[in-house]
Parts: sequence; structure tokens; C-alpha cells
Amino acid sequence: MNKRREISLERAGELKSRIEDYLSVRDSIPTGFSEKVQEQYKKSKEILMKHFGASEEQWNDYKWQLINRISDIETLSLIVNLTEKEKEEIKNVGATYRWAISPYYAALIDPENKYDSIRLLSVPTGSEAAHPEGEVDPMGEEFTNPAGSITRRYPDRLIINTTNECAMYCRHCQRRRNIGETDTHKSDAVIMESIDYIRNNPEIRDVLLTGGDVLCLSDKRLEWILKELKSIPHVDYIRLGTRTLVTMPQRITDELVDMLKKYQPIYINTHFNHPKEITPEVKEACDKLANGGISLGNQAVLLNGINNDKYVMRLLNHEMLKIRVRPYYIFHAKHVKGTLHFNTSVDDGIEIMEYLRGYTSGMAIPTYIINAPKGQGKTPIMPQYLLSRSKNSVKIRTWEGVVIDYENHPTIDIKEYL
Ligand code: SF4
Repeated sequence: MNKRREISLERAGELKSRIEDYLSVRDSIPTGFSEKVQEQYKKSKEILMKHFGASEEQWNDYKWQLINRISDIETLSLIVNLTEKEKEEIKNVGATYRWAISPYYAALIDPENKYDSIRLLSVPTGSEAAHPEGEVDPMGEEFTNPAGSITRRYPDRLIINTTNECAMYCRHCQRRRNIGETDTHKSDAVIMESIDYIRNNPEIRDVLLTGGDVLCLSDKRLEWILKELKSIPHVDYIRLGTRTLVTMPQRITDELVDMLKKYQPIYINTHFNHPKEITPEVKEACDKLANGGISLGNQAVLLNGINNDKYVMRLLNHEMLKIRVRPYYIFHAKHVKGTLHFNTSVDDGIEIMEYLRGYTSGMAIPTYIINAPKGQGKTPIMPQYLLSRSKNSVKIRTWEGVVIDYENHPTIDIKEYL
């Protein structure tokens, strides 16, 4: 064996050892494709279909899913084993914080495991009421609303909140103050006021339609908004904020994709938090959108007991790339009233980032963000790789922890060299 091959093999052996810990636990983390998860999903789906008297066609129809969201303990008890204490807690919490779960998402809950990620994300727990600390609107969104239902926090882009409806009311929702007892879409007048504001402010080039969940609007209503926005020459592209890909993938119909294609460029920001949310139905929905030329990005929230684990987060990012969703952000959870049990330390987030960079493809590495209080903007947080910086050199740390002095040459005037 020549020396070069010998050195290469030794290095390959070192690299192999750096992934052994992940490989030893990877297969124990459930994904929506795991055999056990699929078996249990089919059982719960059957029970719910029988309960609702639904056909397969109805189950696959998002309107049916939306109308039949589960929001009563009796129906939930058919597929989740709840103690009397847990039932009482759901009832108590439900009086303050609304809950409703699409039958599809509910069928993914492990009936026996109270720490199951899907259950924690969708079913109320006593801690929501037991810890009333926290803020209602930590982002101060009420103070960044210059017109209509706009939230504006940046120079060139803004959000239009179109509805308060969602396919499932996530227990960690950072906008839970907007979720009332009834689903209300913003009126035509409010939407038009928002669109007029954009029309009159030519620096706005990027518009995010969100809610609630913008894909809870009908195709017709969404098309009306898209058409209006598309008529504004300075709007470069439109983004849609939706978690229906995760909680009600039936929403992604061929008709919807055909309609969206007319208003390109369109980007979808979705919200996967755990690999168990990635199922065959979800893959089909993502394929439809990606085949229609619509780019998909993910904004996860770092959540205690769900994904504050370096291996779970790595697997989540890998599984998303397999269904053509690009990991984009990991948001540090804010101190929102009723969600404090989901909060993690910033150290958890930094550890996750430390074990992504170098250990996996750059494409699988989102940016970890703390949303600065009161709408002061997204602030990226990362492990320290730049240890010091002077005029002539920088000290850097590689992903494996090797510290290197690296020359820092001044930028040349290119015209003097050409
Ligand atoms: S889908 Fe989004 S807005 Fe709706 S409840 Fe979940 S996190 Fe909140």
C-alpha cells in the first residue's frame, strides 16, 4: 500500500469513528416511516374512520380532515390511553387554550406513551395551566402592525396574517394569543388594506402570508390574495407559512399546486419538529409541491422533550432533505405563557449546532435563531469558530476542535491587478 492510501485510510477510520455514536442511536428514533409507527397509525386511523363513519376518500380529503378535527376527550380517548387525571387536565387547559387535532395527526400518537412527541405537540398537558408565567406576546407583534393585518419587523419584507385557523393547534404555539374559540379569516377590507400598504411602499420585495395557517384558506381566497400581490411590480416573490404539510398533508392537492404554479416564484416555509412527523402522506405532499417547482424550507422550534437532542435534530434534518425540504431555521422557543415546559436552555441549541457542523452536509444545517424580544429581529447563535481576529491573522477552530492561526490578508484593490 502506498503512503497516500495509508494516510487516507487512517483519516477515513477517524471520520468513521466520529459518526459511530449517531449510528448507534439513529434507528431507535421513530420516524413516520418506521414500521412500528405505520402499524400503529393504521390501527388508530381505522378506529377513527369507524367512529366518524368515514370512507378512505373522505380521510384523504382535507376539508373532511378540517371539519372533523378532534377537540373532545371522548374521541381522543378512542386512540390515546388517558388517565382520569389527564382527562381532567385536558378539560381544564381547554377552558383557557383551545385544542383541536386533525384526525390524520391524531392517528400518529402512540396510545401508550405519554412522552410521545406527536402527543406532546398536540394534546394539552396540565403544565400549560400549572405554569402561568411567561408572556402573551413576547415579540411585541401588536406594535409592529402599520396597517391591516401586517407585521413589519424588517426593511424589505413583511408578514400578512390572513387567518387564525390551523389544522391543529400546536401546544407550543408562539402565537397562541391569536387562537380564539372560533376560526376567523381576516376580512376582505383588512387584506386589501395590507395589500395597499405594500403597493404604497416600494421597498417591500418579499411578502410572507401566514396566520394561523395560510393553507386553511380556500384555494379561491388564496388565489385572490396571490393575484393582488402579483400585480405589484416591486414584490419579487411570495412565501406561504403553513404547517398543513405536517399536520394535514391532504391539503396539498393537485388543484392547489396548479394554482400556485401560476404565481411563481412561491416559497413554502413549513414547520417540522420531529422525524416522526415525516410520513408517506407527508412525502407525497412535498413531492407534489417540489414537482410543481415550489421550494420548501423548514423552520423548526427547539422544544424540550421533542427535539432538544443532537441526534433527533440531525435525523430530522436528514429526513427532511429526503423529502426535499431544506432545513432553514431552528428557533429558540420564546417564553410564551402556557408553553414554558417546552423551553430549553440556549446551551441545548448550541450543542445541537456543534454536532451538526462538519458531522453532516452543510445543506442539513439550519441557522439557530433567537428572536430578540419586542420584534428586534432574528439573531443567529452559533458555537464559536472564530476565536480571535487581528489585522493580519485570525484564530479559528475547526469542527473537530483543531485551533489554527490563519493569515488575514487585506482585500486588494482589484483594479490595480487587472
Ligand atoms: S400551525 Fe403554526 S400558528 Fe398554528 S398552532 Fe401550530 S404553530 Fe401555531
